[in-house]
Amino acid sequence: MKSVAFTSDAKAHDECGVFGIYNSDGLNVVEICHDALYGLQHRGHISAGITVNNAESFYTQKGLGMVSEVFPPKSVEKLPNGMIAVGHVRYTSIQNLDQAANQPLVLRYKEGSIAIAVNGSITNFPQIRKVLERGGAIFQSNSNAELMAYVIATERCSTDNLEDAVINCMDKLKGAYSAVICAPTRLIALRDRHGFRPLCVGKLRNSWVFASESCVFDSIGAEFVRDVEPGEMIVVDREGFHSYKARVDREKTSMCLFEYVYVARPDSVIDGVSVHTARIRMGEMLYSEYPLDADMVCGVPDSGIIAAEGYARASGIPYGMGFMKNKYIGRKVGTGMDKKKRLMQTKLTALKSNVEGKRIIVIDDSIIRGETSKHIVHLLRSAGAKEVHMLISSPPFVSPCYFGIDISDRESLIANKLTTEQIREEIGADTLGYLSVEGLRKTVEGAQFGLCDGCFTNSFSADIPSVFFVDKYANKINKK
Ligand code: SF4
Repeated sequence: MKSVAFTSDAKAHDECGVFGIYNSDGLNVVEICHDALYGLQHRGHISAGITVNNAESFYTQKGLGMVSEVFPPKSVEKLPNGMIAVGHVRYTSIQNLDQAANQPLVLRYKEGSIAIAVNGSITNFPQIRKVLERGGAIFQSNSNAELMAYVIATERCSTDNLEDAVINCMDKLKGAYSAVICAPTRLIALRDRHGFRPLCVGKLRNSWVFASESCVFDSIGAEFVRDVEPGEMIVVDREGFHSYKARVDREKTSMCLFEYVYVARPDSVIDGVSVHTARIRMGEMLYSEYPLDADMVCGVPDSGIIAAEGYARASGIPYGMGFMKNKYIGRKVGTGMDKKKRLMQTKLTALKSNVEGKRIIVIDDSIIRGETSKHIVHLLRSAGAKEVHMLISSPPFVSPCYFGIDISDRESLIANKLTTEQIREEIGADTLGYLSVEGLRKTVEGAQFGLCDGCFTNSFSADIPSVFFVDKYANKINKK
């Protein structure tokens, strides 16, 4: 599972997870949606929510906290069952704990109600919002969902049906978004034209289900059907399943590579590639790029562990547990520096009996500011490791992400300030090696669509939001 959102522990965080179900079997959609949100919990710990459409009346339960906190035992029973349900889990930075941004967001307009749950980041948000505000719109939050709802409601005034309004909305909104929309008689799922964030469709008996990740389908007993394609809108109604596809330049599709490295659950398959297999290959590829000699390979919990297994398989060096992670330290920890240090110390401890006197290769998924890596090396050395060689299953971060992953600002990224050799010195490791961009791309060979590697290359296939161009690096950003 991912690091806890409130901790500000110098790890990247994803923004959200979405789920939707159209009931054709007399299923209990609220219970299914609730179970599905547990399967998406790793994508966001800040808030959770469910909206159910019962005979075209919408009922919502949402709030701050993990799924178990927002829905304590028996509380989901208060929501009536219905035809359609959508659910959402959200991550956001501590600075943006806006309760009004909790989702699903329900908007009532002249054609009825819609409930929206979005994962991603709309990059022309300020421009679109300004236009809407000039027309009298009053926003309650800074959420992508609210903006999307307003655009759809506005477009609906000049179109014959909701489908056309959503297609027009997709034409207007730029950036990354995968979303599910509950309408009075339809469930709609959509993925932006670049396909930055995953979204897949499944079948639960005769009912259609949509989720950010396929791992959810296993947990609710649904069968994976396929990925929603970049630029595709799927509508499910009484007549069945209807797909509308925008003309998309496949060269410019750009599914987030970092989903495979860190964000997604290993038991998910995204655009045809198993996340677990990709992580094993990352470890194998690390061995081909850094064939080191050592006594044991270990991974930093959780997302470094599978790559460590891959490295061990490729090298023949035994794999062993290097750390114990305290899974019970949660969101109660604050954000001050001292608290952060305390958290790092209590969350992870080195397994002395396993590392003492050994030459250790330790694999982690990424380095952002370097503090966590320094702490990991220190833990291993304090537990008696003779040598500590740190390998990273992704390339150095050289740019923030503009498309929905909360990676630190450019100045905080250690790889923008120091060379790899200087970072090695800073964190106190005997060796430091990052997986190359080419190597990482090879690990997801077979993916159905193009891939984004912008945070590793500073090169983006989609427009960067103009608000970011105020920084002095703007002219160094490459456009593919
Ligand atoms: S910039 Fe990085 S984190 Fe953001 S979408 Fe691209 S690969 Fe993913």
